[in-house]
Amino acid sequence: MPAPAERIRVTLIAGDGVGPEVVNAARRIIEAAGVAIEWEEAEAGAEVFRKGDPSGVPSETIASIERTRVVLKGPLETPVGFGEKSANVTLRKLFETYANVRPVRELPGVPTRYSGEGIDFVVVRENVEDLYAGIEYLQTPDVAMALKPISRKGSEKVIRYAFELARREGRRRVTCCTKANILKMTEGMFKRVFEELATDYPDIQADHLIVDNAGHQMVKAPAQFDVTVMTNMNGDILSDVASGLVGGLGFAASGNYGDGVAIFEAVHGSAPKYAGKDVINPTALILSSVMMLRHLGEHDAATKIENAVLVTLESGEAVTQDLARIAGSDVEEATSTTGYTDAVIANLGRAPSKQVDRVARGIGDRGALPDPPARWSYAPKRYAAVARKLVGVDVYIETDLPVEELGPKLEKLAPKPLKLALISSRGITVYPAEAAADDVRWYRCRFLVSEGKTDDATVEKALAKLLQQITPKHRWVQVAKLHTFNGEPGYTRPAGAGS
Ligand code: NAP
Repeated sequence: MPAPAERIRVTLIAGDGVGPEVVNAARRIIEAAGVAIEWEEAEAGAEVFRKGDPSGVPSETIASIERTRVVLKGPLETPVGFGEKSANVTLRKLFETYANVRPVRELPGVPTRYSGEGIDFVVVRENVEDLYAGIEYLQTPDVAMALKPISRKGSEKVIRYAFELARREGRRRVTCCTKANILKMTEGMFKRVFEELATDYPDIQADHLIVDNAGHQMVKAPAQFDVTVMTNMNGDILSDVASGLVGGLGFAASGNYGDGVAIFEAVHGSAPKYAGKDVINPTALILSSVMMLRHLGEHDAATKIENAVLVTLESGEAVTQDLARIAGSDVEEATSTTGYTDAVIANLGRAPSKQVDRVARGIGDRGALPDPPARWSYAPKRYAAVARKLVGVDVYIETDLPVEELGPKLEKLAPKPLKLALISSRGITVYPAEAAADDVRWYRCRFLVSEGKTDDATVEKALAKLLQQITPKHRWVQVAKLHTFNGEPGYTRPAGAGS
């Protein structure tokens, strides 16, 4: 055995529910494969919340990850009723692991309705931004709103990651899936950045699908996909759909890659009803640890373990209960988590009948790139300068007044050069045009500069005055400045009449 100093250090988080069982399975197999890892065992999740830490991630765990920069973790429960945020989301954000990579591949011995079609693709999901920013407001007691921040930088990092991953794995196509038809600013930005970056990768076919059609295509003809890249929420949903195509959550592995840290975990959660019963399928976490070993440059051990899993599945000698259900075999006779792990260990060194022809390395591979944090540093693309102009404001107002009364009152309050342009209810113009929108007592009231040439400072003063005028008379809950960028509105127009 090598001296401890030569060992690779990895932070090991057992997690909640079935976490300790699947993490123990992966650890046993890695050690049996002869990889010299010094595990730094650390805590996160439910127990930490219970001890009163509202983040679910103690400072000792953060310090360990800063040292090791590589984490193998079990699922973390997000307790309902105490604790604030998901400890998973906190970990991903703390270490800016912006690319969540989820390989989706047909596995031998795992029968599905697609068996034989050769499903082999990767979902790359943006992992930090979007609705997962978790920025929500109760605008009134009965109207809630969430923000969906999408940045050019965040989009560029994950999209470049997807193209680089395609190149390294010898893949030919990257498909961007967005809802840009409806969300033109947010999902639209992701799509535009994708199209701009695609020009840097002429060797790779780049195309776009509206995300709902992507879901449809994924279920109808999944083998057509190669690499897909998506914003956080779309990727969350479609990657779970994708895992269902190839056997379910028991088989779905993932890696969260950042500039300096990578976190490897199964896609599934803590499956509390199976906790401590020794029945859960540990394959997802074992295959996540294979991704980790490739990231660490331990390619031989990674392939050895991956092959042992494939041999075990192919032979049908150890069938966990989820697989028994899929395969239609006797669930009562299913192999335990420990029994399955023993079988994989016994198969180390054996090769499956069909070799793995694609090594899912991911571009965080430490075997080929310089040490973190220098590796994979972000080099922003140069974009043209932007001319920005302040042209108005949206004021969100909670009111019992019918809109026909609210409109004229607000018209009188607007100081020059601002003028009430429209009022909308959940995106539909209801004033001055009449629309059959339900009244939820919450309106977006849009004031625009009515005269042609007005400098930003004059508009700023008018905005401040407008709010002073509105405050004593109406309950406003939020304001948003309206700008044009190179003459194009940086805000959406509501449906129906108006600007
Ligand atoms: P879940 O834990 O993923 O379990 C849902 C179902 O998926 C299970 O009941 C089981 O289906 C199946 N399943 C999950 N893992 C499996 C495995 N290894 N082998 C075989 N089947 C497996 O989802 P959940 O019940 O919605 O979430 C429970 C907790 O986990 C929540 O607190 C949630 O916040 C957390 N969570 C954590 C993570 C993470 O740490 N990354 C991810 C997701 C959820 P059957 O009932 O059909 O057997």
